[in-house]
Amino acid sequence: MDLGIAGKRALVCASSKGLGRGCAEQLAAAGVNLVMNARGSEALEEAAQAIRDEYGVEVVAVAADITSEDGRSKVLDAAGDVDILVTNAGGPPPGLWSDWGREDFIAALDANMLTPIALMTALMPKMMDRGWGRVVNITSQSVKAPIPALGLSNAARTGLTGYVAGTARQVAPFGVNVNNMLPGIHATDRAIQLDGGVSQKEGISIEEAKTRREATIPARRYGTRAEFGAMCAFLCSEHAGFIVGQNILCDGGGTNATI
Ligand code: NAP
Repeated sequence: MDLGIAGKRALVCASSKGLGRGCAEQLAAAGVNLVMNARGSEALEEAAQAIRDEYGVEVVAVAADITSEDGRSKVLDAAGDVDILVTNAGGPPPGLWSDWGREDFIAALDANMLTPIALMTALMPKMMDRGWGRVVNITSQSVKAPIPALGLSNAARTGLTGYVAGTARQVAPFGVNVNNMLPGIHATDRAIQLDGGVSQKEGISIEEAKTRREATIPARRYGTRAEFGAMCAFLCSEHAGFIVGQNILCDGGGTNATI
């Protein structure tokens, strides 16, 4: 399918690895020029070059912490006007409800709620002026089915989801479509880190922890970054102009709910 977005320009945050990289790769496959970001410059440059080589699109790489004000300014200066925005950042650490104080919540809200809001606030006005734009926020399946150990993530991402529900409907009349993607378990560094936590806590191997978790997913496997990125590219395509303010689960059936 021709996604109809060749030649457009996208900012994909936190994209040297994992789900963000999957989104960058699939947008590049559709002919979209990219601004990619991550904190570590080595992996970022490697990912940017691999995408240039494979897809022949322009890629600007900006090493910065997207959750800090300075980092965001650096990324936004390099990005200029973009047609497509994919927001993403690392998730907050797991823990117990009684572990967290005000500063932990502020850090989680900054990273996973206020950062995507700041990026949308900065970039959507020009999209609205041009009458076309797409925003995809990477959140989590925990928005639909909260994960007890991820209280910080549950809180911040649910806040973002509420904001998007209203905002998406305010910008849709101007040709800007905002949606969220809710990943279940995908085979990325983040998943390996979570499996490592279970392996340590329960005294089992990481492989065993993974096998146990795969058994809880109806698809009986972890998702891939290519599958996730393909859905993101579709939501950023010409064909997605009638999809507004949705929360799209990509979880292999892991969230047992229809509504
Ligand atoms: P990942 O494999 O660990 O990759 C994270 C990427 O984001 C890396 O490129 C990392 O590069 C970059 N990054 C992290 N923090 C950043 C920051 N502050 N500023 C700029 N770049 C940053 O993680 P992932 O699995 O793709 O997860 C992406 C998001 O989806 C996370 O919020 C995660 O909680 C959420 N999620 C993931 C899953 C899953 O199964 N994978 C499930 C549900 C939700 P640097 O470290 O060099 O900055």
